[in-house]
Amino acid sequence: MVYVIEYRCARCGTVHESNVPQTICRSCNGPLLAVYDIESVKNAVDKHVFCSRSNSMWRYLELLPIFNERNIVSLGEGSTPLIKLERSGESLGLRNLYMKDESRNPTATFKDRPISATVSVLKELHVHSIAIPTAGNAGSSLAAYGARAGLDVHIFMPSDTPKPIYSEAFIRNADVKLVDGLISDAGRVVAECVSKYGWFDISTMKVPYRVEGTKTMGFEVAEQLGWMSPDTIVFPTGGGEGIIGIWKSFKELIELGWVKSMPKMVVVQSECCKPIVSAYSEGKDRVEFFKGCNTIASGLRVPKPFADIEILKVIRESRGLAMDVSENEIIHSLKELASKEGILACPEGAAAYAAVKKLVESKLVDRDENIIVYNTGSGLKYIDLLHDVSK
Ligand SMILES: *Cc1c(COP(=O)(O)O)cnc(C)c1O
Ligand SMILES: [Zn+2]
Repeated sequence: MVYVIEYRCARCGTVHESNVPQTICRSCNGPLLAVYDIESVKNAVDKHVFCSRSNSMWRYLELLPIFNERNIVSLGEGSTPLIKLERSGESLGLRNLYMKDESRNPTATFKDRPISATVSVLKELHVHSIAIPTAGNAGSSLAAYGARAGLDVHIFMPSDTPKPIYSEAFIRNADVKLVDGLISDAGRVVAECVSKYGWFDISTMKVPYRVEGTKTMGFEVAEQLGWMSPDTIVFPTGGGEGIIGIWKSFKELIELGWVKSMPKMVVVQSECCKPIVSAYSEGKDRVEFFKGCNTIASGLRVPKPFADIEILKVIRESRGLAMDVSENEIIHSLKELASKEGILACPEGAAAYAAVKKLVESKLVDRDENIIVYNTGSGLKYIDLLHDVSK
């Protein structure tokens, strides 16, 4: 039984079939989102069955876009812990501050969720060569899942991507190309190669499958809170797949009647690369290219997200906000999480934690709220940065 019905354009609503590989909207080039037959899902499963299934994100099978379970390419992604930040919560005066720790994924970032979903669907639809422009982590994840599925993968990452992330992809025998510049420059090279060699481009939000994996980060939090929505989600945002995925998870859970409310979605960026924060604070509905993006949080070096309209909509419709933090605040937070909570966060996750502190200072959250801050990856993938800040 398959519950995904179609892929619908988030902008113009054009419907695309689910039995052939899809990229972006054929009418307006907007991003596509999977649509499920929610009534049938409701009749087929109860929310309480998920906890009795295997420990990976694939236990939400009815809400994932695969036809045949045999095509799932998994390394055990998902099922990450939700850790109560007792000591930091206390010092901030927050009673219910939690960290969703995505460092526990197979390649140590949340990217394993979108990549496992995408590689599985593409394997099912007989796509053999996949290309990706990446700020780094989605590339090392694709190298892993591509290796497991026996696919041909081509990864284009900025030449200043942290070395462990590059080496990880390289050792998995992927075709890894370093590009001078940012993910946007890598994206241009991929676009050229796609038309030349017929590779399938899985850029952020340019295939509808990635967000389907990402949304399990929201399902898990709802389940871990006893099928309840948190009040606030704080996520470090680059291309927007994370925040859109989590928003979509709560949309579906509300439609299913399994939770009641949409959390406030808080997008966090570095002040050295904050295209979404700028657009949000200027009241715009499109994001302008941010010149000179450069932050230690390399996963956030995205000067212009493709799904800009959707990210801004998610923030506004959920009554959330977008906030930037400084590089010093990121480093300080990284050290604080390590020393107070024992969590070795990636700089992106540390940025999100730094934003929680600012939300408290600005009285934008109150002490009883359930606040979920995502640590999107492991600090170990940024070992040079850890060496630098340990001096
Ligand atoms: C990709 C990435 C992000 C940003 O996520 P988006 O979905 O692109 O907004 C944050 N942190 C880490 C560690 C990442 O790899
Ligand atoms: Zn469209």
